[in-house]
Amino acid sequence: MTRARVLLLTAALGPLDYRVPRESEAPLGSVVIAPLGPRRLGGVVWEDASFGAPEAVGDNRLRNLYEVVPVPPVPAPLRRLVEWTSDYYLAPPGAVLRMVLPGVAFADARRPIVEYRATGELPARMTPQRTVALEAIGDRQGMVRELAALADVSEAVIRGLINTGALEAVNVSADQPYPEPDSGFAPPDLSDEQTAAAAQLRDAVHAEKFDTLLLDGVTGSGKTEVYMEAIAAAIDAGKQALVLLPEIALTEPMLTRFTARFGCEPVAWHSGLRSAERRRAWHAIASGDARIVIGARSALFLPYARLGVIVVDEAHETSFKQEDGVHYHARDVAVMRGHFEGLPVILASATPALESLAMVEAGRYRHIQLPARFGGATLPDLAAIDMRQNPPDRGRWLAPPLVDALADRLQKGEQSLLFLNRRGFAPLTLCRTCGHRIQCPNCTAWMVEHRLVHRLACHHCGHVMPPPRLCPECEDEDSLVACGPGVERVADEVALRFPEARVAIVTSDTLWSPAKAAEFVDNVEGGLVDIIIGTQLVTKGYHFPNLTLVGVVDADLGLDGGDLRASERTFQQIAQVAGRAGRGVKPGEVLIQTRVPEAPVMAALVANDRDGFYAAEASARKFAGAPPYGRFAALVISSEDIDVARGVAKRLGDKAPVAEGLAVYGPAPAPLAMLRGRHRFRLLLHAPRSFDLQGTIRDWVGSIDWPTKARLAIDIDPYSF
Ligand code: ADP
Ligand code: ZN
Repeated sequence: MTRARVLLLTAALGPLDYRVPRESEAPLGSVVIAPLGPRRLGGVVWEDASFGAPEAVGDNRLRNLYEVVPVPPVPAPLRRLVEWTSDYYLAPPGAVLRMVLPGVAFADARRPIVEYRATGELPARMTPQRTVALEAIGDRQGMVRELAALADVSEAVIRGLINTGALEAVNVSADQPYPEPDSGFAPPDLSDEQTAAAAQLRDAVHAEKFDTLLLDGVTGSGKTEVYMEAIAAAIDAGKQALVLLPEIALTEPMLTRFTARFGCEPVAWHSGLRSAERRRAWHAIASGDARIVIGARSALFLPYARLGVIVVDEAHETSFKQEDGVHYHARDVAVMRGHFEGLPVILASATPALESLAMVEAGRYRHIQLPARFGGATLPDLAAIDMRQNPPDRGRWLAPPLVDALADRLQKGEQSLLFLNRRGFAPLTLCRTCGHRIQCPNCTAWMVEHRLVHRLACHHCGHVMPPPRLCPECEDEDSLVACGPGVERVADEVALRFPEARVAIVTSDTLWSPAKAAEFVDNVEGGLVDIIIGTQLVTKGYHFPNLTLVGVVDADLGLDGGDLRASERTFQQIAQVAGRAGRGVKPGEVLIQTRVPEAPVMAALVANDRDGFYAAEASARKFAGAPPYGRFAALVISSEDIDVARGVAKRLGDKAPVAEGLAVYGPAPAPLAMLRGRHRFRLLLHAPRSFDLQGTIRDWVGSIDWPTKARLAIDIDPYSF
């Protein structure tokens, strides 16, 4: 009889032992289905792991594995990565493994999926919901569930449309091969600088060993063109390449660029995929047929058969940090994957994270620089508008110099971009009579007015309500006023001042799908847009040659609050959005509206003094023992019952570990004291780099009894403070 130790796809348990029936073999890494009580669960045959072995169970009590799933086994380096991620982020290994083996891994790739699409015939009986659904579906297709979600109607409405013949079934095969990219399809003529950088990247791919390369080039220097050479080298060597992007809205323009360079569309992996696409992509990734994969951070854990290089684009972006479930940082885990698999990892950025620059300084990463824009385009001029001296009119947000600059661009037929990192119309609705502020019932957060869709929404839990007519507190009529600007309100002001201007609002509300993002790019490139108004979604990736003016509506927005990375993030965000200006032959201008032009970050931006800014920031962090020179970890205890949460936090606080160099702060209400109906208390740990934070936390958390009503979230190297 053979035993197999299996790590199941559940967060609740470590590995368990099973009996392997004689006739089937299950070597290490095999993907299997195993019984757990009455359930059937997926899992992977595992060795004794750092996260512990199961209790010894006698041979006679072992249960049989149900089956070995006919997909490639999970290779040893990827198993090590799962263990490392679990150990480092103190996350259940089964939860990490689920990112390697999402549900589609267990679906038979040969079985077609039935999707539906419109036939063009209208049902004899039209209802408002049917009209809405057909309009939303347009020429897209998907499974019943997906179409219902797309149109925001019930599945019954979709089934009704199928029965009337307005929608027809299409079989989608999930094992269709993807086209092969051609590394020589349309290689660019690289500049001398680019050629030198590309050669280093190619060499790293050919070396087939672990290496981290920081591709540090100003916006528009051609980083994408250069890292594509590394991808071409990987393709030529018969390998796969993975490109991680911070935002799914960026996927579509990237797919287009890759198609232009390699002759066919790469394989996409992100949360917006349909089931059929997801299944096809997963199986092609695991078999090695998907040669170039472009994806969001969740693409990082997939079981590539022959990975040759990982590129993390816009590597400084904080959205690579996953903030729920397994709290991991995709950039850092990408480097670990390179380490375990022996392959190079390229971090591309115009404004690298201080962490990455510190690794360069420590000699751990190679620094590859592209200091100039490609093709003689110059970097834009940055200037601050002191809002204390140039106040906008009451109830307006654009200062006179910015308004003049917009008028100038409109008159010249050039495009402008207004950046404000706030979705919606106004961040706060206030009663003029009694001072009541409309708050989310589930979170410690204000409801944000979204006037375009006529709703108030909580940006933390998604709760929505119609805008109330009366103040919910004093019941006064017409006393509610919007406070502060969001992008929609800036758009209103632009419409008032420049009624002839064609405006595009770009936020996750308007660019919620890759198709919408593609449409936006087409409109801007086609000259159908004069002024883009957007959140951080427009700060990266886009290349619009006719865009010559960038206005930062409120540069001080990110500086409030106690975030230790506030200055760095502000610098990165403004440098990135500034990088959208003047990318073609016409030079760019950037106007930064601020009330603190004397703040070091604003001064550095205006003086184009990146090195000075980073040096000052590094010494401030060093002095405070902040990352990358020291480490933080956060423990957040939450419960629907505030007394339970407070009680557990207090008991944990009473047993706080004491050690040389370690500081424990709290418990105190977490920065979001209530989130999704759960009360939250936080303990914050601060320690030197060398301190064993994980071991300390493991012992500490294990030292108290946890009531079932309380939940613990551990955040190693937290980004939100
Ligand atoms: P970055 O990623 O550094 O911002 P990109 O790779 O997006 O820069 O390049 C900016 C623009 O310049 C893009 O439109 C790109 O196609 C173009 N470009 C860069 N290098 C070359 C080159 N060697 N030949 C032709 N076009 C290039
Ligand atoms: Zn909420």
